[in-house]
Amino acid sequence: MKDRYDLLIIGGGPGGAIAAKTAACKGLSVCLVEKRPAIGVPVRCAEGIGKDILQQFIEPDERWISAEIDRAILVSPDGTSMVLEPQHAGNEVGYVLDRKIFDRELVWQAAAAGADIAVKTRAVAPIMENGKVSGATIESCGEVKNVRAEAVIAADGVESKFARWCGIDTTVPLREIMSCAQYLMTNLTIDPHATVFYFGNSIAPEGYLWVFPKGERSANVGIGITGRKSAPGKRAKDYLDAFVRSHFPDGRTIECIVGGVSVCRPLPCTVADGLLIVGDAARVVDPLTGGGIFNAMYTGQLAADVAAGAIAEGNTLKERLMPYDTTWRCAKLGKNLERNYKIKEFFIGLSDKKLNALAQSVSKINLKEFSTLVLVKELIKRNPGLILDLKALKDAIS
Ligand SMILES: Cc1cc2nc3c(=O)[nH]c(=O)nc-3n(C[C@H](O)[C@H](O)[C@H](O)COP(=O)(O)OP(=O)(O)OC[C@H]3O[C@@H](n4cnc5c(N)ncnc54)[C@H](O)[C@@H]3O)c2cc1C
Repeated sequence: MKDRYDLLIIGGGPGGAIAAKTAACKGLSVCLVEKRPAIGVPVRCAEGIGKDILQQFIEPDERWISAEIDRAILVSPDGTSMVLEPQHAGNEVGYVLDRKIFDRELVWQAAAAGADIAVKTRAVAPIMENGKVSGATIESCGEVKNVRAEAVIAADGVESKFARWCGIDTTVPLREIMSCAQYLMTNLTIDPHATVFYFGNSIAPEGYLWVFPKGERSANVGIGITGRKSAPGKRAKDYLDAFVRSHFPDGRTIECIVGGVSVCRPLPCTVADGLLIVGDAARVVDPLTGGGIFNAMYTGQLAADVAAGAIAEGNTLKERLMPYDTTWRCAKLGKNLERNYKIKEFFIGLSDKKLNALAQSVSKINLKEFSTLVLVKELIKRNPGLILDLKALKDAIS
């Protein structure tokens, strides 16, 4: 690792990896530091991603695809199912990845493009000069050194500290952090090409439970809940265990992970002098689904693009980096985050009775086109009793 780079990237997840590759391809000197000893492990993810959005960044490769998904099934508290078939499942048509291999592939590609990669290497503090982020103090295997850079990308995930150390308030309100638990299970009887989502306040309070296939008889079976409506003393794992006992009594668990997902709005500003914040660190996770792989890659690429232009001009002050922030906010990504935040807020307020009524009203219909707005319009038509709730939602997202 050198003492000085054009760009220093903190974190080797999808956001940091794509940023490193993008910047290296533009001829910048780049270093990516990752605190874990190996890229991609432990996996803290259900590993689902839409086909079309993934292909914007990387050609699909069977080495890191565990399953191809062609439909999604939503199950309401009383067991009513709504099946989104391929023609209208939209983003739900996709892959379940093997992120142990996928994340490594992204970092390998960054290294192949010329980026320096340092694992078991942690940023412990920013270097601040006249209020500008000018690098980071790095700790690697007991050694501490200063690494300077024209700009730093904070891609350090949901537990991000780097931006906070730089003086940015990154607090996630307690009610907007989902507590997650997930088992990788085998010996299951499942549909290997369908992702299944279970809803309800007794199944997953203010969240959902998922079964994402990883093969013919294996799946990520996980849950995300908030602490607000969960029963006293009940953790995400307790809800997950109850589900597993009733749905997969013969299943075998070969991996267990826990983690957090933010379901708040993004940070109010994702740049500062010398600093760009991407992915989970910027809180650009989809508040409705908890999905953040694509968002991390998208913001990572954009941040590196903008940083490269700024570095070429010799000006990495906040104002020059601002196009990163405004571009993702005005893009489909930013608009979807805001819309999905409102939808999430609407759905977590519903009782199981209302959820069941909504699910039953649309379970048998075949929508010609599936989009959130089409679905809400259909719900309004079929649920006159809930017209006020649904009208407010429609107004909020249209
Ligand atoms: C249970 C669960 C299920 C999920 N399921 C899905 C899903 O199905 N689909 C989806 O799209 N998203 C899902 N997500 C979200 C997804 O995992 C994240 O949005 C995605 O990994 C974000 O990428 P990132 O690069 O921003 O951060 P991360 O992938 O978290 O990478 C950040 C990296 O930074 C490193 N780091 C942190 N601090 C430092 C430091 N000081 N110095 C050096 N390195 C540091 C960390 O070790 C980590 O490797 C899920 C999340 C959870 C918890």
